[in-house]
Amino acid sequence: MSIDLATVALLGAVQAWLMAIVLWTSTGSYAGVARASLRIRAVALGLEAAAWVLLGLRGQVGEWLSILVANGVMLVSYAMTVHALRMLLGVPQRRRLAAAVAAAGWLAIAWFAVVDPDYQARVLCATLAVLAYLAMMLLPLSDGLRRGGSSAKRVLLVILTTAMWMLCWRLAEPLLSARPAGGFLASSFVNTAFLMFSAMQPLFTSIGFLLLYNETMQKELKSLARIDPLTGVANRLALVEAAERLLEEATRDGRPLGVLMLDADHFKSVNDRFGHSGGDKVLRAFTASIQRALDGGEVFGRIGGEEFVVLSPGIGLAEALALAGRLRAAVAGMGLAIDGQTLALTVSVGVAAASPGERDVASLLRRADAALYAAKRAGRDRVMVADGDPAQPPA
Ligand code: GH3
Ligand code: MG
Ligand code: MG
Repeated sequence: MSIDLATVALLGAVQAWLMAIVLWTSTGSYAGVARASLRIRAVALGLEAAAWVLLGLRGQVGEWLSILVANGVMLVSYAMTVHALRMLLGVPQRRRLAAAVAAAGWLAIAWFAVVDPDYQARVLCATLAVLAYLAMMLLPLSDGLRRGGSSAKRVLLVILTTAMWMLCWRLAEPLLSARPAGGFLASSFVNTAFLMFSAMQPLFTSIGFLLLYNETMQKELKSLARIDPLTGVANRLALVEAAERLLEEATRDGRPLGVLMLDADHFKSVNDRFGHSGGDKVLRAFTASIQRALDGGEVFGRIGGEEFVVLSPGIGLAEALALAGRLRAAVAGMGLAIDGQTLALTVSVGVAAASPGERDVASLLRRADAALYAAKRAGRDRVMVADGDPAQPPA
């Protein structure tokens, strides 16, 4: 079977262009890092296709076009792909290194095309540059090999590792077989295999990119679904999940878990006085004051309305009461000024602690809620524990 390698190169170009369109259009209206990354890869594919056309026209167009321009465009396309992939993976992009590899690779290729024409030396220079790019892509993908690692990363690892071996084979074959290298389109087994793989690579890598994009989007959506849009802290779903996880860890390690339920006092009157948007501002300031008073080891979130929860691993009832007292004092001393008027906001806090071996999150939260209700009934601006004992009198 004889295969016309120029035709294979042109078919590769058509496929790369089609995949560029698929990647560009498949990101939809979602605007984020993941879309920017896919679009950079789409442009890189467009450039790669142009390079394949020029390489496939070897002998029919000037060498400056089929060697100098084609290799330059191909190297820029690789640099952009590295940038896109590292962006999608959320690792440092190393743009300067990628640009330096392209510049050095292109200058070396130009030298062996113009000053000292040598095909095998050009293959060596291009191969080294592309190997550097492959290393920059493979290294951050390597954690995909871990048990339970990302399947998109594994797909890309297989494709890029195969590309690496293909490049090494094409470079080494003339040395191993002691045959002259011929040329880019010379009919040889290694050239055929290399070009066939290269022509299919846009399809394979695009599948990998789309899988990775999908995983990234799912992660982003999962975290967005757990953030309260008004205050930026954990929402009810995230709080319940965290409570389940922390209770499990507390049971496993035989440690306590403190739970604080906070509710802003007379918040309806805040809305009546300042309107709903003024009330929103107060809720954000309230959230910030609590965050400043926490030391970072806790999970803090808005369970609904003007009601918040603090989960503090490793602390028992006495420490949870002390923490609740600090939070109450922080809110009381907040000194809010809304629309030129001052507002004295107070908070009531219900406290509970998980006893060793306790597994029921709902009953733990219910106890803290009952304590909060008791604090409200006792006059507000105070801390109470589940059994109804006032733990700290109002300041
Ligand atoms: P109490 O001291 O008993 O807690 O009195 P309260 O007025 O704070 O209690 P209640 O639960 O009856 O009212 C809570 C108010 O909080 C009612 C609701 O309009 C307001 N609220 C809930 N969510 C938001 C919000 O996202 N923004 C604003 N501005 N107000 C909210
Ligand atoms: Mg309230
Ligand atoms: Mg309330």
